[in-house]
Amino acid sequence: MKFDEILLEHGGGGRLSNDLITGVFLPHFRNACLERLEDSAVLNLGDKKICFSTDSYVVDPIFFPGGDIGSLAVHGTVNDLAVCGGKPLCLSTGFILEEGFGMKDLKKIIRSMSEAAALAGVSIVTGDTKVVPRGAADRLFINTSGIGIVDYKGSISVKSIADGDAVLVSGTIGDHGAAILTRREGLGFKSDILSDSAPLNGLVEKILKTSPNIHCMRDATRGGLGAILAEMAQQSGLTISVREQDIPVRDDVRGVCEILGFDPLFLACEGKIALFCPADDAQKVLEIMKGHEYGRNAAIIGTVAAGKDQGRLILKTAIGGSREIDLPLGELVPRIC
Ligand code: MG
Repeated sequence: MKFDEILLEHGGGGRLSNDLITGVFLPHFRNACLERLEDSAVLNLGDKKICFSTDSYVVDPIFFPGGDIGSLAVHGTVNDLAVCGGKPLCLSTGFILEEGFGMKDLKKIIRSMSEAAALAGVSIVTGDTKVVPRGAADRLFINTSGIGIVDYKGSISVKSIADGDAVLVSGTIGDHGAAILTRREGLGFKSDILSDSAPLNGLVEKILKTSPNIHCMRDATRGGLGAILAEMAQQSGLTISVREQDIPVRDDVRGVCEILGFDPLFLACEGKIALFCPADDAQKVLEIMKGHEYGRNAAIIGTVAAGKDQGRLILKTAIGGSREIDLPLGELVPRIC
């Protein structure tokens, strides 16, 4: 698809984001590391392997049930490092502040970031601040980048996903998206739904310590579980089939989706990973997940197959049918993270 200007969907983690990356960025930036298009770049530095990742946060509202833009900015980058097998070490942070933004809110966000970093065991070691005139940005935007050490001997990559793999998810999906939606102006919902924003490096470390055969992990963020699975099906060239009734969704999240006409499969998460491993290891990995506070509602939700329908994501519906799930054009709701 060709566009003369940027649309909101270009930042949505769906088809238009992919078009932007492969059509505009990659042709100029191309190198072996970037081409892998994983959540972090994994680089060899002497005899060490490190991972390196960056992400920007523009969530609206900046304070939401279960978190705020500051904790989210720490969790997001920590999780992108963790799912590539990295033990996150340190972060940088960049602030773009709008003239007139309240000092009280800024201090609250900085405190939240520092608590989130302490909880995740990372240090914020460098940073930058820019202020733009009123109207040139909306209150504040945050960028974080992070570095981690990769010790895991296996190769964690979308290219390692194999025929026969089991697909697991670490808990209920769509919580973050539903929490933001219920707080957006004009919706006027009363609900107890909290964002699932959380640092997943502890959970991932436990999984990697117990299993030498993890093939791939990815954190489900703005496009939800549906978007990352559709993308991983495409990138792996294999068929991913998931069973709708096995995908954990909170009743109140399902309720919000029904009222607003959203599919929880595409609703944002900020504390959930999809994981691929050999079917024989799936039960063991599931038990590790369930034993961790951020994996209590984990489930085995599907399988991977080679053969026909390659590169597709198939949803086996609760009533016994099946349908192909396409990578969405963009995110359901702008500024979700
Ligand atoms: Mg990610």
